[in-house]
Amino acid sequence: MSQTQDCPHEVCSTLPLLTAQMSTEREYDCIVIGAGVQGSFTAYQLAKNNKKTLLLEQFVLPHTRGSSHGQTRIIRKAYTQDFYTHMMEECYVLWAQLEREAGVKLYRQTGLLVMGPENSNNYQLIRNTLQRNKIPMMTLTHDNFSQHIPQMKLAKGYEAVVDITAGVLYADRALSTIQGQFQRLGGIIKDKEMVTDIKPGPVVTVSTNAGVYRAKSVVITAGPWANKMLAHTGLQLPLEVVKINVCYWKEKVPGTYNVKQRFPCFILTEGEESNEDIYGLPSNEYPGLVKICYHMGSKTNPDQRDMQTDRSDIDILQCFIHRCLPGLIPEPAVVEHCMYTLTPDRHFVLDCHPNYRNIVIGAGFSGHGFKFGPVIGKLLCELSLGQEPSYDLSPFQIRRFQAQTKSVL
Ligand SMILES: Cc1cc2nc3c(=O)[nH]c(=O)nc-3n(C[C@H](O)[C@H](O)[C@H](O)COP(=O)(O)OP(=O)(O)OC[C@H]3O[C@@H](n4cnc5c(N)ncnc54)[C@H](O)[C@@H]3O)c2cc1C
Repeated sequence: MSQTQDCPHEVCSTLPLLTAQMSTEREYDCIVIGAGVQGSFTAYQLAKNNKKTLLLEQFVLPHTRGSSHGQTRIIRKAYTQDFYTHMMEECYVLWAQLEREAGVKLYRQTGLLVMGPENSNNYQLIRNTLQRNKIPMMTLTHDNFSQHIPQMKLAKGYEAVVDITAGVLYADRALSTIQGQFQRLGGIIKDKEMVTDIKPGPVVTVSTNAGVYRAKSVVITAGPWANKMLAHTGLQLPLEVVKINVCYWKEKVPGTYNVKQRFPCFILTEGEESNEDIYGLPSNEYPGLVKICYHMGSKTNPDQRDMQTDRSDIDILQCFIHRCLPGLIPEPAVVEHCMYTLTPDRHFVLDCHPNYRNIVIGAGFSGHGFKFGPVIGKLLCELSLGQEPSYDLSPFQIRRFQAQTKSVL
């Protein structure tokens, strides 16, 4: 007598059917771990390629605990290396495509003012990259600087160029848009599901606090938690997580630095205050407040981010604002928090796991990865499908860290 025929309980008679259904529900072509900007674009690309894709996120979405939250990010082609400028050419096209596809505005052109000492290596590299790649740009001299940007002072011995097509990306809106497009393509997002284990193999098994899933390939885009995830696969990368104080500064006269007054985004490559970049965006998301941050922070544990209370970056910003932005009160009005995951050379990690080709890693976006989301998603999708990547990925390979990469197995 079989259970399905004779058991009086309805639940027993449907058991084999349910079990079969459950197992197909838990089997995917690809599982993406982490629904920040990189995981969300990767999942979207996979779904676009008709792959059954699951995107797992440890927190309830949207959240402010990783690296992709906040209203704004800078988008630019101004880089010290050609390979980033080339990738950005396609990113602009893909961001515009997403805007059209979803019917939302994600980008606003403001231009990006890049300033640096005349003899600064980084400043010269950026200017040369713009020139060499024929990116629309404008050089500002000491004589005409205040005519174009009266709200800011260019220090003596400094030069400036404007990357004209640069601007602002509406980050939170972009994230919810791409996740929505992924779901529209049939993709599944499970938030509040923390991945607790990854078992490599020809089929990878991923366990969460709520279930066990299997997939032909897995993409790890866990941001500041990348090494925590990679530990399950026996790998540790030389990544450092730092907390960033996201500072907003009040205008003395409301509207002076507003996007409508054509105040641009800016980057100071090196200043009197420090060797790291200082960057800013025009006031827009919070009326009367200008976002200006230091491109470095202090080491933190992503699970205890706010236990790091160092404010030395804010001291540096105060000196800079006092010196160069006389229309702002040099005391931050609002401070929010975010994290960078830094690699030693500040280039990304876009590669297959050295021991398991069906585990793909996107990590170490080093505080400049948001604008690349559409192309990163495409590249991680290509790697997970075993396709030839559309760009030369040698600057992003794990083997460059050979001396610093630890196997923990
Ligand atoms: C203040 C600030 C300013 C920035 N400015 C710019 C800019 O102007 N331009 C620019 O291009 N870039 C900028 N960046 C960088 C950019 O935002 C990041 O490079 C990018 O957001 C990194 O995205 P990510 O998907 O790798 O990481 P995250 O956004 O952190 O996503 C990782 C996700 O994985 C999830 N996760 C981790 N572990 C697990 C687990 N066990 N189970 C399930 N889910 C898990 C996390 O919860 C998180 O949601 C800035 C970053 C900061 C912090």
